[in-house]
Amino acid sequence: MTRTISIFGATGSIGDSTLDLIRSDRANWNVVALSANCSAEKLARLAIEFGAQIAVVGDESCLPELREHLSGTSIEAAGGAQALCDVAARPVDITVAAIVGCAGLAPTMAAIEQGNTVALANKESLVSAGHVMMQLVEKHGTTLLPVDSEHNAIFQCLEGNNLDDVRWITLTASGGPLRTKTLAELEATTPAQAIAHPNWDMGAKISVDSATMFNKGLEFIEAFHLFPVGLDRLRIIVHPQSVIHSMVEYRDGSTLAQLGPSDMRVPIASTLAYPARMDTSCKPLDLATIGELTFFAPDEERFPATRLAREAAHAGGAAPAVLNAANEVAVAAFLAGQVKFTHISAIVARTLDNYAPPAPETLDAVLAVDAEARARAGEMLELA
Ligand code: NAD
Ligand code: MG
Repeated sequence: MTRTISIFGATGSIGDSTLDLIRSDRANWNVVALSANCSAEKLARLAIEFGAQIAVVGDESCLPELREHLSGTSIEAAGGAQALCDVAARPVDITVAAIVGCAGLAPTMAAIEQGNTVALANKESLVSAGHVMMQLVEKHGTTLLPVDSEHNAIFQCLEGNNLDDVRWITLTASGGPLRTKTLAELEATTPAQAIAHPNWDMGAKISVDSATMFNKGLEFIEAFHLFPVGLDRLRIIVHPQSVIHSMVEYRDGSTLAQLGPSDMRVPIASTLAYPARMDTSCKPLDLATIGELTFFAPDEERFPATRLAREAAHAGGAAPAVLNAANEVAVAAFLAGQVKFTHISAIVARTLDNYAPPAPETLDAVLAVDAEARARAGEMLELA
């Protein structure tokens, strides 16, 4: 039986991996919608290859180019932030939410409202909206499947178990490309060095997040919402080989871990086939060649991001949305050469100190906090 799927952020790294899996299992899938921010040519090419019903660009100014590339086909074209939400509201069996940043929040919420299955890669949306998103998931009976490799690992380790029996959830972190650098070296880091991840091939934003450890900070908050065991049962350990994707320890002393190659097609495949399994062409895990698995405590002196995220999670309310927005602004400024690598966490810390609005209770309120936090973080750039 074929299943229908829409992929938001189809032209990115997660989009590529998802479409690669669909390509190898074409008979079982019917692609409804594909989206990108702009990348009109690539989006049109994918929409044609997969016979999508509709292609959407988030940036409306790219719509004429999309239309041009789709001319002569029966594929619909749409553009703009509202169009992303309208298309996300079209019913499908599974939506892959793989837009980067809080820009993915509104479409992800629209997909959740359908009440089918949402495979969530877009961690920033859950960090920003937190309870507002989880309440919507509950209200509509949506199946929310984590794509993020750590959360996908935890989800698998929790299957068949009871959350009350969990002693610890341990998120593993590779430590990123700068794990062994001194503070002085961190300060001099260029964007090219920061995005050269040793284990994973990812989009630029999450690659910088991995280098600063904000990725793990965002994932800590993401885990708090997905697996409600309480903040004091969540911890982070640095594991440079990225073989163990995360672990759950139970009160009887058993620890379950999920292992696999550093290839996002593995966790994505587990969401596409859930609760069954599907074939992938990923390289099998060769532990004898890897040889050693090592573990270190995070160093929050050189990498304050996990501390800032933990504090924001404890503060609750709007703090995670402020942290996320400030980080998005700071990362974009770093990639544009406007601020130094070490300024990223400083900008986030200052924005959190400077802006503490009440807890947002609706999607619009979350978006308003996000917008204001971006404006304030933008002002901090000049001070950096
Ligand atoms: P990417 O930069 O490679 O792709 C992002 C996608 O989102 C592209 O299709 C882009 O066109 C679209 N997009 C960007 N800005 C947009 C906007 N304003 N409006 C609409 N669409 C927009 O990013 P990625 O690495 O694929 O990451 C996507 C998400 O998945 C992120 O939230 C990331 O944290 C998460 N994630 C990625 C990986 C990975 O291995 N790449 C792993 C775990 C989680
Ligand atoms: Mg991850």
